[in-house]
Amino acid sequence: MNTLTDSIIVQKTKRSRISEIDFNNLEFGKHLSDHMLLVEYDKGQWLSPSVVPYADMTITPANLALHYGQSVFEGLKAYRNKDGNISIFRALKHHQRLLKSLERMCMPAIPEELFIHGLQALLEVDAAWVPGTKGASLYIRPLVFATESRLGVKVSDQYKFLIMTSPVGPYLNKPFTIKVEDHYTRAAEGGTGYAKCSGNYGGAFYPTQVARQQGYDQVLWTDHKEHKYIDEAGMMNVMFVFKGKLVTPRLSSAILDGVTRDSILVLAKDMGFPIEERKVSVEELEEGIVTGSLTEIFGAGTAAVVAPIANINIRGKDYTIPVASEDSFQNRVKQKLQDIRLGLAPDVHEWNHVIPGK
Ligand SMILES: *Cc1c(COP(=O)(O)O)cnc(C)c1O
Repeated sequence: MNTLTDSIIVQKTKRSRISEIDFNNLEFGKHLSDHMLLVEYDKGQWLSPSVVPYADMTITPANLALHYGQSVFEGLKAYRNKDGNISIFRALKHHQRLLKSLERMCMPAIPEELFIHGLQALLEVDAAWVPGTKGASLYIRPLVFATESRLGVKVSDQYKFLIMTSPVGPYLNKPFTIKVEDHYTRAAEGGTGYAKCSGNYGGAFYPTQVARQQGYDQVLWTDHKEHKYIDEAGMMNVMFVFKGKLVTPRLSSAILDGVTRDSILVLAKDMGFPIEERKVSVEELEEGIVTGSLTEIFGAGTAAVVAPIANINIRGKDYTIPVASEDSFQNRVKQKLQDIRLGLAPDVHEWNHVIPGK
């Protein structure tokens, strides 16, 4: 075994905050669990990892991440399965994406076993924070950022890798409204769109705020050149059911390779539902809505899993999308995903990383 993660130091909090949490009334991301994983990088290597009480930390005002944006993150979930154990969903896939993000931002790779063992050590200490209530889960947020103090523009030599967690309730599946963006851009080909880096979010806030002022919840991002082809919906991948097929934009450097997107594609195949990964134009979308050949539009991401879209604005015109029925594709696939996570359906793709729950 590797000595790096064999020797994870655990420093437990003297005062747990868990009794202050109303597990039947959880607001997304509001409550942080008692502990976090903390690993520092210096002189070319990741140093001894530790699980420590979640607490504020000091950083230098000349912190390179704040000035030049070397900061990437992940978002995954752990569930309490039917046997009371903790099941982390597709941890390896999230680790692989973290590696891609780190590489794009010139940040050091995190070894798989450090990621997995660190996560496991953290969840063992904070096992009680994994909710057992229906539809709830523990949201896991790995974060890596530069810590070197320097005003000159450079790649940092020092970093911190943290994993923090937060119990979250069932996502309210209130259908949302969306506006096709034909002016602003989230990501351009060759840029950082496929990386989960913090700056992508900062850059998306303003166009989203403009859309909100116009009465829409989110932006449907289109390609940066012509605003002709669809990329993503807000900070989710977007999927359509078109003439009885599941259609989703093909991955590019401007589209984030979502784990939920991938899981839905795999399950669609299992269900014998035809899939197409290809370019989808705004024109085709509009035509599909008008002729009725487009029956579902939904966002796919870890936070919401499946987020139905009820209304879409295309070049100033509002279109209503029919409400997804009980046996719509999105509701069936969502149920399948949930059953796999909870151990109610066989995990044939080996997506669950199960650890004993206390
Ligand atoms: C995180 C994210 C997604 C969804 O990815 P999942 O792995 O399914 O959570 C989609 N688009 C963007 C831009 C994201 O940052």
